Amino acid sequence: MKKDLKNFTLEELGGYLAVNRYPGYHAQQVLSWVYQKKAEDFSCMSNIPAALRKKLQDDFYLSKLNLIKRLVSRDGTRKYLFELEDKNTIESVLIPHKGRNTVCLSTQVGCKYCCRFCASGAFGFARDLSQAEILNQILGIGKDIKNKINNIVFMGMGEPLDNYDALLRAIRIINAKYAFYIGQRKITISTAGLVEGIKKLAREGLQIELSISLHSAVDAKRDTIIPLNMKYSLNKLLPSVREFAKLTKRKVTFEYILLGGFNTAVRDAQALLELIRGLDCKINLIPFNDVAGAGFLPPAKLEVLFFRDYLLKYNIDVTIRQPRGQDIEAACGQLRMRHLNQ
Ligand code: SF4
Repeated sequence: MKKDLKNFTLEELGGYLAVNRYPGYHAQQVLSWVYQKKAEDFSCMSNIPAALRKKLQDDFYLSKLNLIKRLVSRDGTRKYLFELEDKNTIESVLIPHKGRNTVCLSTQVGCKYCCRFCASGAFGFARDLSQAEILNQILGIGKDIKNKINNIVFMGMGEPLDNYDALLRAIRIINAKYAFYIGQRKITISTAGLVEGIKKLAREGLQIELSISLHSAVDAKRDTIIPLNMKYSLNKLLPSVREFAKLTKRKVTFEYILLGGFNTAVRDAQALLELIRGLDCKINLIPFNDVAGAGFLPPAKLEVLFFRDYLLKYNIDVTIRQPRGQDIEAACGQLRMRHLNQ
Protein backbone atom coordinates (compact mmCIF):
# COMPACT_ATOMS: atom_id res chain seq x y z
CA MET A 1 0.00 0.00 0.00
CA LYS A 2 1.28 3.45 -0.91
CA LYS A 3 2.36 5.75 1.90
CA ASP A 4 1.81 9.47 2.19
CA LEU A 5 5.21 11.07 1.54
CA LYS A 6 4.23 14.09 3.63
CA ASN A 7 4.29 11.88 6.73
CA PHE A 8 8.04 11.35 6.26
CA THR A 9 10.89 13.32 7.77
CA LEU A 10 14.08 14.07 5.84
CA GLU A 11 15.90 11.35 7.79
CA GLU A 12 13.18 8.76 7.13
CA LEU A 13 13.15 9.53 3.43
CA GLY A 14 16.95 9.31 3.46
CA GLY A 15 16.61 5.86 5.05
CA TYR A 16 14.19 4.78 2.33
CA LEU A 17 16.62 5.99 -0.36
CA ALA A 18 19.52 4.13 1.26
CA VAL A 19 17.57 0.89 1.36
CA ASN A 20 16.76 1.35 -2.33
CA ARG A 21 20.38 2.31 -3.15
CA TYR A 22 19.82 5.91 -4.15
CA PRO A 23 22.00 8.78 -2.91
CA GLY A 24 20.72 10.45 0.26
CA TYR A 25 20.80 13.97 -1.25
CA HIS A 26 17.68 13.17 -3.26
CA ALA A 27 15.69 13.31 -0.01
CA GLN A 28 16.15 17.08 0.28
CA GLN A 29 15.45 17.55 -3.40
CA VAL A 30 12.19 15.63 -3.20
CA LEU A 31 11.00 17.46 -0.08
CA SER A 32 11.86 20.79 -1.61
CA TRP A 33 9.73 19.90 -4.64
CA VAL A 34 6.86 19.09 -2.31
CA TYR A 35 7.02 22.02 0.11
CA GLN A 36 8.80 24.80 -1.79
CA LYS A 37 7.78 24.19 -5.37
CA LYS A 38 4.38 22.81 -4.27
CA ALA A 39 4.61 19.76 -6.55
CA GLU A 40 1.46 17.67 -6.54
CA ASP A 41 2.94 14.64 -8.29
CA PHE A 42 6.34 13.07 -8.81
CA SER A 43 6.48 13.43 -12.61
CA CYS A 44 7.44 17.13 -12.49
CA MET A 45 10.50 16.56 -10.25
CA SER A 46 12.94 17.24 -13.08
CA ASN A 47 16.20 16.90 -11.10
CA ILE A 48 15.22 13.45 -9.78
CA PRO A 49 16.33 10.49 -11.97
CA ALA A 50 13.44 8.98 -13.92
CA ALA A 51 13.92 5.57 -12.28
CA LEU A 52 13.65 7.09 -8.81
CA ARG A 53 10.59 9.12 -9.80
CA LYS A 54 8.98 5.88 -10.93
CA LYS A 55 9.96 4.15 -7.68
CA LEU A 56 8.56 7.03 -5.62
CA GLN A 57 5.38 6.93 -7.66
CA ASP A 58 5.03 3.19 -6.91
CA ASP A 59 5.64 3.55 -3.16
CA PHE A 60 4.18 6.93 -2.23
CA TYR A 61 1.39 9.37 -2.89
CA LEU A 62 1.14 13.09 -2.16
CA SER A 63 -1.97 13.82 -0.11
CA LYS A 64 -3.87 17.09 -0.15
CA LEU A 65 -6.87 18.47 1.68
CA ASN A 66 -10.21 18.99 0.05
CA LEU A 67 -11.35 22.57 0.52
CA ILE A 68 -15.08 22.44 1.15
CA LYS A 69 -15.75 25.94 2.40
CA ARG A 70 -13.93 29.25 2.49
CA LEU A 71 -15.22 32.41 4.11
CA VAL A 72 -13.54 35.77 3.55
CA SER A 73 -14.00 38.50 6.12
CA ARG A 74 -14.24 42.21 5.43
CA ASP A 75 -10.91 42.57 7.28
CA GLY A 76 -9.19 40.03 4.98
CA THR A 77 -9.26 37.11 7.44
CA ARG A 78 -10.01 33.84 5.65
CA LYS A 79 -11.50 30.84 7.30
CA TYR A 80 -11.17 27.41 5.70
CA LEU A 81 -13.05 24.19 6.26
CA PHE A 82 -10.99 21.31 4.93
CA GLU A 83 -12.09 17.72 4.47
CA LEU A 84 -9.64 14.92 5.28
CA GLU A 85 -9.32 11.57 3.49
CA ASP A 86 -11.65 9.93 6.04
CA LYS A 87 -14.26 12.72 5.54
CA ASN A 88 -13.58 14.32 8.91
CA THR A 89 -13.38 18.09 8.74
CA ILE A 90 -10.99 20.62 10.27
CA GLU A 91 -10.68 24.39 10.29
CA SER A 92 -7.73 26.65 9.53
CA VAL A 93 -7.56 30.43 9.45
CA LEU A 94 -5.48 32.95 7.52
CA ILE A 95 -4.89 36.28 9.25
CA PRO A 96 -3.23 38.84 6.99
CA HIS A 97 -1.81 41.83 8.83
CA LYS A 98 0.51 44.59 7.62
CA GLY A 99 1.77 42.56 4.66
CA ARG A 100 2.43 39.43 6.72
CA ASN A 101 0.37 36.25 6.55
CA THR A 102 -0.25 34.27 9.72
CA VAL A 103 -2.00 30.92 9.60
CA CYS A 104 -3.76 29.31 12.51
CA LEU A 105 -3.59 25.52 12.26
CA SER A 106 -5.53 22.63 13.75
CA THR A 107 -3.77 19.63 15.24
CA GLN A 108 -6.69 17.33 16.04
CA VAL A 109 -10.19 16.57 14.77
CA GLY A 110 -12.26 17.95 17.63
CA CYS A 111 -10.77 18.23 21.09
CA LYS A 112 -10.81 16.25 24.34
CA TYR A 113 -10.76 19.20 26.66
CA CYS A 114 -14.14 20.90 26.26
CA CYS A 115 -13.19 24.41 27.34
CA ARG A 116 -16.45 26.25 27.83
CA PHE A 117 -15.76 29.22 25.60
CA CYS A 118 -14.54 27.11 22.65
CA ALA A 119 -16.59 25.39 19.96
CA SER A 120 -13.83 22.89 19.06
CA GLY A 121 -14.68 20.49 21.85
CA ALA A 122 -18.44 20.73 21.27
CA PHE A 123 -18.54 17.56 19.14
CA GLY A 124 -15.98 15.66 21.19
CA PHE A 125 -12.66 14.27 20.02
CA ALA A 126 -12.30 12.12 16.90
CA ARG A 127 -8.57 11.71 16.31
CA ASP A 128 -5.15 13.28 16.04
CA LEU A 129 -4.04 14.83 12.78
CA SER A 130 -1.02 13.33 11.03
CA GLN A 131 2.12 15.29 10.18
CA ALA A 132 0.83 15.43 6.58
CA GLU A 133 -2.57 16.79 7.58
CA ILE A 134 -0.94 19.55 9.64
CA LEU A 135 1.41 20.52 6.78
CA ASN A 136 -1.33 20.28 4.15
CA GLN A 137 -3.21 23.10 5.86
CA ILE A 138 -0.27 25.41 5.09
CA LEU A 139 -0.07 24.18 1.50
CA GLY A 140 -3.85 24.50 1.07
CA ILE A 141 -3.92 28.08 2.32
CA GLY A 142 -0.75 29.02 0.41
CA LYS A 143 -2.36 27.74 -2.79
CA ASP A 144 -5.48 29.80 -2.13
CA ILE A 145 -3.70 33.09 -1.45
CA LYS A 146 -0.79 32.49 -3.89
CA ASN A 147 1.45 34.18 -1.39
CA LYS A 148 4.04 33.36 1.22
CA ILE A 149 3.06 32.41 4.75
CA ASN A 150 5.21 34.11 7.39
CA ASN A 151 3.87 33.01 10.78
CA ILE A 152 2.35 29.84 12.13
CA VAL A 153 0.17 29.63 15.22
CA PHE A 154 -1.09 26.33 16.55
CA MET A 155 -4.29 27.72 17.99
CA GLY A 156 -6.87 25.99 15.84
CA MET A 157 -8.89 22.93 16.65
CA GLY A 158 -7.37 20.56 19.20
CA GLU A 159 -4.75 20.72 21.92
CA PRO A 160 -1.38 20.76 20.10
CA LEU A 161 0.62 19.20 22.95
CA ASP A 162 -1.83 16.29 23.05
CA ASN A 163 -0.59 15.38 19.55
CA TYR A 164 3.02 15.98 20.43
CA ASP A 165 4.91 13.76 17.98
CA ALA A 166 3.07 14.81 14.82
CA LEU A 167 3.27 18.43 15.97
CA LEU A 168 7.04 18.34 16.44
CA ARG A 169 7.61 16.47 13.18
CA ALA A 170 5.53 19.08 11.34
CA ILE A 171 7.38 21.94 13.06
CA ARG A 172 10.74 20.61 11.94
CA ILE A 173 9.51 20.62 8.32
CA ILE A 174 7.98 24.08 8.71
CA ASN A 175 11.33 25.34 9.98
CA ALA A 176 13.54 23.47 7.49
CA LYS A 177 15.45 25.41 4.84
CA TYR A 178 14.50 22.83 2.18
CA ALA A 179 10.80 23.15 3.05
CA PHE A 180 8.77 26.13 4.36
CA TYR A 181 11.78 27.83 6.00
CA ILE A 182 9.71 29.70 8.58
CA GLY A 183 11.83 30.80 11.57
CA GLN A 184 11.27 29.09 14.90
CA ARG A 185 10.39 32.41 16.51
CA LYS A 186 7.58 32.76 13.98
CA ILE A 187 5.97 29.55 15.24
CA THR A 188 3.69 29.64 18.29
CA ILE A 189 2.21 26.72 20.18
CA SER A 190 -0.82 27.52 22.26
CA THR A 191 -1.76 25.10 25.03
CA ALA A 192 -4.53 24.86 27.60
CA GLY A 193 -1.85 23.65 30.01
CA LEU A 194 -0.60 20.10 29.39
CA VAL A 195 2.24 20.18 31.90
CA GLU A 196 4.20 17.15 30.65
CA GLY A 197 4.10 18.53 27.10
CA ILE A 198 5.37 21.94 28.21
CA LYS A 199 8.26 20.32 30.08
CA LYS A 200 9.14 18.15 27.12
CA LEU A 201 8.94 21.08 24.71
CA ALA A 202 11.29 23.09 26.91
CA ARG A 203 13.95 20.44 26.28
CA GLU A 204 13.65 20.21 22.48
CA GLY A 205 16.26 22.91 21.91
CA LEU A 206 13.77 24.93 19.86
CA GLN A 207 13.26 28.69 19.98
CA ILE A 208 9.53 28.54 19.37
CA GLU A 209 6.97 30.65 21.16
CA LEU A 210 4.75 29.24 23.89
CA SER A 211 1.35 30.66 24.62
CA ILE A 212 -0.76 29.54 27.58
CA SER A 213 -4.56 29.73 27.43
CA LEU A 214 -4.92 30.99 30.96
CA HIS A 215 -8.20 32.91 31.12
CA SER A 216 -8.24 32.98 34.92
CA ALA A 217 -5.56 33.04 37.61
CA VAL A 218 -8.02 31.62 40.14
CA ASP A 219 -8.23 27.81 40.23
CA ALA A 220 -11.89 27.69 41.26
CA LYS A 221 -12.82 29.83 38.23
CA ARG A 222 -10.39 28.21 35.81
CA ASP A 223 -11.80 24.78 36.73
CA THR A 224 -15.20 25.87 35.45
CA ILE A 225 -13.98 27.08 32.05
CA ILE A 226 -10.98 24.78 31.38
CA PRO A 227 -11.72 21.31 32.77
CA LEU A 228 -8.04 20.39 32.26
CA ASN A 229 -7.29 22.70 35.19
CA MET A 230 -8.77 20.09 37.53
CA LYS A 231 -5.88 17.83 36.57
CA TYR A 232 -3.19 20.47 36.11
CA SER A 233 -4.05 23.24 38.52
CA LEU A 234 -2.16 26.52 38.48
CA ASN A 235 0.37 25.36 41.07
CA LYS A 236 1.40 22.59 38.63
CA LEU A 237 1.08 24.63 35.45
CA LEU A 238 3.07 27.69 36.46
CA PRO A 239 6.26 25.86 37.50
CA SER A 240 6.33 24.17 34.07
CA VAL A 241 5.88 27.56 32.35
CA ARG A 242 8.65 29.10 34.44
CA GLU A 243 10.87 26.15 33.56
CA PHE A 244 10.10 26.63 29.84
CA ALA A 245 10.98 30.33 30.07
CA LYS A 246 14.21 29.56 31.92
CA LEU A 247 15.43 26.80 29.60
CA THR A 248 14.47 28.47 26.31
CA LYS A 249 14.99 32.09 27.39
CA ARG A 250 11.75 32.89 25.56
CA LYS A 251 9.12 35.27 26.82
CA VAL A 252 5.94 33.26 27.37
CA THR A 253 2.52 34.70 26.45
CA PHE A 254 -0.60 34.22 28.54
CA GLU A 255 -3.84 34.44 26.61
CA TYR A 256 -6.63 35.81 28.74
CA ILE A 257 -10.14 35.80 27.26
CA LEU A 258 -12.13 38.53 28.97
CA LEU A 259 -15.54 37.03 29.75
CA GLY A 260 -18.04 39.74 30.66
CA GLY A 261 -18.64 39.87 34.44
CA PHE A 262 -16.70 36.64 35.06
CA ASN A 263 -12.93 37.23 35.13
CA THR A 264 -12.61 40.99 34.72
CA ALA A 265 -12.73 42.33 38.31
CA VAL A 266 -9.91 43.89 40.34
CA ARG A 267 -9.42 40.65 42.29
CA ASP A 268 -8.98 38.76 39.00
CA ALA A 269 -6.28 41.20 37.88
CA GLN A 270 -4.61 40.95 41.31
CA ALA A 271 -4.60 37.15 41.15
CA LEU A 272 -3.03 37.37 37.70
CA LEU A 273 -0.31 39.71 38.92
CA GLU A 274 0.43 37.37 41.80
CA LEU A 275 0.58 34.35 39.48
CA ILE A 276 3.10 35.86 37.05
CA ARG A 277 5.23 37.62 39.66
CA GLY A 278 8.88 37.62 38.57
CA LEU A 279 8.15 35.93 35.23
CA ASP A 280 9.14 37.70 32.00
CA CYS A 281 5.90 37.34 30.07
CA LYS A 282 3.27 39.01 27.92
CA ILE A 283 -0.45 39.13 28.57
CA ASN A 284 -2.73 39.05 25.56
CA LEU A 285 -6.26 40.12 26.44
CA ILE A 286 -8.94 38.78 24.13
CA PRO A 287 -12.45 40.20 24.40
CA PHE A 288 -14.77 37.16 24.21
CA ASN A 289 -16.15 36.40 20.75
CA ASP A 290 -19.56 34.91 21.47
CA VAL A 291 -19.90 31.13 21.02
CA ALA A 292 -23.49 29.92 21.02
CA GLY A 293 -24.25 28.00 24.20
CA ALA A 294 -21.08 29.01 26.05
CA GLY A 295 -23.09 30.94 28.63
CA PHE A 296 -20.80 33.99 28.63
CA LEU A 297 -21.20 37.51 27.41
CA PRO A 298 -18.67 39.63 25.56
CA PRO A 299 -17.13 42.13 28.01
CA ALA A 300 -18.13 45.80 28.01
CA LYS A 301 -15.51 48.07 26.47
CA LEU A 302 -14.93 49.66 29.88
CA GLU A 303 -14.25 46.26 31.47
CA VAL A 304 -11.58 45.58 28.85
CA LEU A 305 -9.89 48.95 29.30
CA PHE A 306 -10.05 48.76 33.08
CA PHE A 307 -8.40 45.33 33.15
CA ARG A 308 -5.66 46.38 30.76
CA ASP A 309 -4.96 49.64 32.60
CA TYR A 310 -4.78 47.84 35.94
CA LEU A 311 -2.01 45.57 34.57
CA LEU A 312 -0.25 48.48 32.89
CA LYS A 313 0.02 50.22 36.27
CA TYR A 314 2.28 47.34 37.30
CA ASN A 315 4.38 47.60 34.13
CA ILE A 316 3.05 44.38 32.68
CA ASP A 317 3.53 43.87 28.94
CA VAL A 318 -0.15 43.72 27.98
CA THR A 319 -1.99 44.01 24.68
CA ILE A 320 -5.60 43.74 23.60
CA ARG A 321 -6.03 41.45 20.64
CA GLN A 322 -8.15 43.13 18.02
CA PRO A 323 -11.00 40.84 17.02
CA ARG A 324 -10.51 39.48 13.50
CA GLY A 325 -13.00 37.90 11.14
CA GLN A 326 -15.97 38.44 13.40
CA ASP A 327 -18.32 38.46 10.42
CA ILE A 328 -17.16 34.95 9.36
CA GLU A 329 -17.18 32.94 12.60
CA ALA A 330 -13.39 32.98 12.87
CA ALA A 331 -13.30 31.78 16.47
CA CYS A 332 -11.99 28.26 16.82
CA GLY A 333 -14.48 25.54 15.90
CA GLN A 334 -17.41 27.76 14.92
CA LEU A 335 -17.38 27.05 11.19
CA ARG A 336 -17.09 23.30 11.70
CA MET A 337 -19.86 23.44 14.30
CA ARG A 338 -22.18 25.03 11.76
CA HIS A 339 -21.15 22.49 9.09
CA LEU A 340 -21.84 19.53 11.42
CA ASN A 341 -25.18 21.03 12.46
CA GLN A 342 -26.38 21.29 8.86
S1 SF4 B 1 -9.48 25.95 23.81
FE1 SF4 B 1 -8.05 24.47 22.95
S2 SF4 B 1 -7.96 22.83 24.51
FE2 SF4 B 1 -9.80 24.03 24.96
S3 SF4 B 1 -11.49 22.97 23.85
FE3 SF4 B 1 -10.70 24.58 22.49
S4 SF4 B 1 -9.18 23.55 21.22
FE4 SF4 B 1 -9.53 22.25 23.02
